[in-house]
Amino acid sequence: MTTSDPIKTLDHFFSLPSKIRFQVLIFAFVVGFSFSHCQIGKVTESPTAPTNQTSPLTLTSSRHLEWIKIKETVWIHRSFGEFGGQVYSANGLVILTNKGAVVVDTPWTESQTEELFSGVKAKFQKEILFLVVTHAHDDRMAGVPLFQIRNIPVYSTSLTAKLAKERGFGKTNPILDIQTRLGAGNQSVEVFFPGHGHSADNIVVWLPETHILFGGCLIKALDAKDLGNVKEADLNEWPNSVKRVLSRYPDAEVVVPGHGDWGKLDLLRHTIRLLVTPDH
Ligand SMILES: [Zn+2]
Repeated sequence: MTTSDPIKTLDHFFSLPSKIRFQVLIFAFVVGFSFSHCQIGKVTESPTAPTNQTSPLTLTSSRHLEWIKIKETVWIHRSFGEFGGQVYSANGLVILTNKGAVVVDTPWTESQTEELFSGVKAKFQKEILFLVVTHAHDDRMAGVPLFQIRNIPVYSTSLTAKLAKERGFGKTNPILDIQTRLGAGNQSVEVFFPGHGHSADNIVVWLPETHILFGGCLIKALDAKDLGNVKEADLNEWPNSVKRVLSRYPDAEVVVPGHGDWGKLDLLRHTIRLLVTPDH
């Protein structure tokens, strides 16, 4: 038996003269205190780090991707990310076709994008055909590098491609200015640029087979009390852009906003109301 046997060690300790036993105890106490003090030192260091990098990240990393079914073939992937020190959810789509899945916007973080890949495989037994991104912000594009690693095509407009490159979101294939309808097996995906709203490059996605409109960040959820991130918004042009979407897709049965619950065309009218109230 080795000296690391705890019973033997304890026997050995009690066989020592009392003075030495006392010295051993003092030594153990000093060593123990030093270790715990190092730990306290580490903890007290953290408040000096920028709080917007520490606490919200912990919150974000604890959230997992959620799946919300709209129809058998169309699902929302809901992810979580941080903006202005708060954690918010973000919606993207997964469209299931007989040839594979189409993804609209990536989850807000890379780890949730990994969950998207495993979810599409495990839940639907599909390969991803391509990704469409609706504008160059991280709640739409944070997972683009992971699509590129897997050689999955990433499509955007040329303005989104330019902004994405400048912002380090990765390279996208800018085909959507010209090719506005993409076939994918037994379904198709149409994109429409209605004009400047939430951002200069925001597009919406229309699914003709299911009459589902993905409004992205151009469209607010019914319970939204404000316009969210308006750093790059054009508040004067935004209502006109939403009106263009309304007149182009009057038969939309489901409207999915960039954040919050999906609903019907009311969401477009609600967004216009938020924009024309005197507060904004
Ligand atoms: Zn945005």
